[in-house]
Amino acid sequence: MDAGFDARVVRKDFPILERRVHGDLPLVYLDSAASTQRPRAVIDAMQRFEEHSYANVHRGVYVLAEEATAAYEDARTAIAGFIGAPSPREIVFTRGATESINLVASAWGRANLHEGDEIVVTEMEHHSNLIPWQLVAAATGAVLRMWPVTDEGLLDLAASPITERTKVLAITAMSNVLGTINPVAVAAAEAHAVGALVVADAAQAVPHLPIDVTTLGADVVVFSGHKMLGPTGSGGLWARRELLEEMPPFLGGGEMILEVWHDRATWNEVPYKFEAGTPAITSQVGLGAAVRYLEGLGMDAVRAHEIELTAYALELLSALEPIRIFGPQDVSQRGGVVSFWLDDVHPHDLAQLLDARGIAVRAGHHCAQPLMRRYGIPATTRASFYVYNTSDDVDALVEGIAAARSTLGF
Ligand code: PMP
Repeated sequence: MDAGFDARVVRKDFPILERRVHGDLPLVYLDSAASTQRPRAVIDAMQRFEEHSYANVHRGVYVLAEEATAAYEDARTAIAGFIGAPSPREIVFTRGATESINLVASAWGRANLHEGDEIVVTEMEHHSNLIPWQLVAAATGAVLRMWPVTDEGLLDLAASPITERTKVLAITAMSNVLGTINPVAVAAAEAHAVGALVVADAAQAVPHLPIDVTTLGADVVVFSGHKMLGPTGSGGLWARRELLEEMPPFLGGGEMILEVWHDRATWNEVPYKFEAGTPAITSQVGLGAAVRYLEGLGMDAVRAHEIELTAYALELLSALEPIRIFGPQDVSQRGGVVSFWLDDVHPHDLAQLLDARGIAVRAGHHCAQPLMRRYGIPATTRASFYVYNTSDDVDALVEGIAAARSTLGF
């Protein structure tokens, strides 16, 4: 498949990738599932905004406040268009996926969950799509049910725990460990048939796949800016307008109110009802620039590039027998994340040996301890790809692992 862009050219847009580490080693950055790097376009947009237009949003009548508000709202329009939201008013800005899930679990969950209700989460969820549900379960008497994954790392559709008692399905659109792209629409249809709310964690999906929230199947879709070339502190959620209108607020304070008395208040219209306090203005402006950059590349091209790199990585890594590679073999079912386990070396030691060669990978449980338990391992080594990675990076990784093997004699 044609990637549609040349990653060797794209990577020139990312100043940090020029960096040398440990003396004069080129940086091989393979940790985009944890956080991506930022292109010059995003860095410049944020700097321009800071130097030229910064002020607090929504409250001022002077020129800077108006420019700042326009830039902030422009970012909302950009992300809405990017994920197919019918209106920018259905985008709530938050600090990222974690805050978005806490918002829904707390605001919707406390208002709607009761003793004995069930919350279904998949076994491959990131802790940020598990712990907020545990917290609301403890507060309401609801109980959690796990939707198992198969040995291959797919959602086990035959083992769905959805019943008449299910009130929420919390499901990742793409696993940050296995790379698995979940059939959200299929799972959501089953959850909707019993009247449950479907919350999709799209922290990994929105950056890597063309996503349209109107066909994904979920009622709520969350995302993080720093995983899609934007800055930390940016991100948000999409939800249908009626759902946002029904849901009580999460955080209280300025901006989210309409009228306030000493003992009560009424709420601002959506999405502002959920944006208490001064938001991360410059960060969200940066996210808007990131979205425009990704649109410039084209999300079909981003996906095609990652399929190509992932297929190449799976082929080369599989040749390093004995190696255990997690997630589906079929690249059409997975994103650009490859987690693996080598007997005789702990992932942390391997990551350190790779770092000595300038290769940045992640080792650990990747905030998915139930999944690690499922596969009987404490951790994996994970390489993850994005628009700036090339086959040279995969070659460097594989050579690095081979060198680590001979150093450690395993
Ligand atoms: N969900 C998934 C699938 C993730 O990969 C991550 C980040 N590793 C998160 C949620 C949490 O995102 P954030 O830390 O940006 O809130």
